[in-house]
Amino acid sequence: MRPFLYQKATDPGMAVQALGAAGNNPLTRATAQPLAGGTTLIDLMKLDVMRPAAIVDINPLAQGWSAIEPRDDSLRLGALAKMSDVAAHDGIQRNYPVIANSLKLAASAQLRNMATLGGNVMQRTRCSYFRDVSYENCNKRNPGSGCAAMDGVNRMHAVLGTSDHCIATYPGDFAQALIALDAMLEITGASGTRNMPFAELHKAPGNTPDIETTLRPGELISAFVIRGRWPRSVYLKARDRQSYEFALSSAAIALDVQDGTIRDARIALGGVATVPWRAREAEALLKGQKFDDGLAQRVADAAFAEARGRRHNGFKIALGRRVVARALQQAVTMEI
Ligand SMILES: Cc1cc2nc3c(=O)[nH]c(=O)nc-3n(C[C@H](O)[C@H](O)[C@H](O)COP(=O)(O)OP(=O)(O)OC[C@H]3O[C@@H](n4cnc5c(N)ncnc54)[C@H](O)[C@@H]3O)c2cc1C
Ligand code: SF4
Repeated sequence: MRPFLYQKATDPGMAVQALGAAGNNPLTRATAQPLAGGTTLIDLMKLDVMRPAAIVDINPLAQGWSAIEPRDDSLRLGALAKMSDVAAHDGIQRNYPVIANSLKLAASAQLRNMATLGGNVMQRTRCSYFRDVSYENCNKRNPGSGCAAMDGVNRMHAVLGTSDHCIATYPGDFAQALIALDAMLEITGASGTRNMPFAELHKAPGNTPDIETTLRPGELISAFVIRGRWPRSVYLKARDRQSYEFALSSAAIALDVQDGTIRDARIALGGVATVPWRAREAEALLKGQKFDDGLAQRVADAAFAEARGRRHNGFKIALGRRVVARALQQAVTMEI
């Protein structure tokens, strides 16, 4: 591990100032990085993939930034709330099961106790070529160097949102729940707080896979806000083993069903795309319809209509369709 300067945040202003002064770009090999639970940042530093010259420990901001605040018609989650606390919260399990389950099915109990919501959505790809610096050719790590995964082992890689420069999968689970619920971000920066749809946070790789988010230098995520309540929502995750494993394919579904008719439907896909993926064309097929197996299949097919498999990951298209169809079935039939 390389030497780095460690600073403890005293307040949000000091944290963004310290990060901004170092020209921080949160998801590149930036000169300064915020430290939350540290469960992935420290890993990447040990692997020499991330080489920050400075770290700003934002844990002292937890008092203001870790609240779980369910309100009558919305939910606000502080970015420093622990994954385990949010997953175990009664009100969230009842009114936002898609959030509770996306967190409960992620990582391990020990990791969830340490890890924060903000760190979770900012985690980086698990592409093995990205995480192994002995491979020179990784456009995300070394811009312009090529992509070892294109002709390498790409079983875990993306089938949606890829480019000729990168096919790495976005690995997290919680982000799909946020996408399905149209969540907003509260972002704290040098000029105060701004709000942005969560869907605008992650950038598809295009020809700059090294630029992963739209956060500006020095900015921190301070909270997530969800409007409405979504008791009829599910998160279904298919993976190689039932615990402590990233998704091969997952679906976050939120439905509003009245008298058997689907009034509103949201579908987000994980494990199969370069960014948390919203399947809007598939959603449109559900609105105003009564549910049956044929409809579920058409929706699942539409969700993967643009998917492109490679040598080892073509199975994700068939698997992903089944995950969507099953998640829909679960969402329609769940007791609320
Ligand atoms: C073995 C293993 C298995 C895992 N399995 C899963 C899984 O199945 N599903 C899943 O979703 N995740 C999984 N994870 C990832 C895990 O959930 C993340 O490591 C964790 O959520 C990161 O949170 P953290 O608070 O520890 O972040 P940190 O490691 O502290 O930070 C992560 C990144 O986010 C930045 N950051 C942190 N907070 C903020 C903020 N408020 N604003 C802006 N930037 C910020 C940091 O600078 C850093 O770049 C796994 C991890 C491991 C090690
Ligand atoms: S898929 Fe992306 S992260 Fe993986 S080797 Fe290729 S460029 Fe790097």
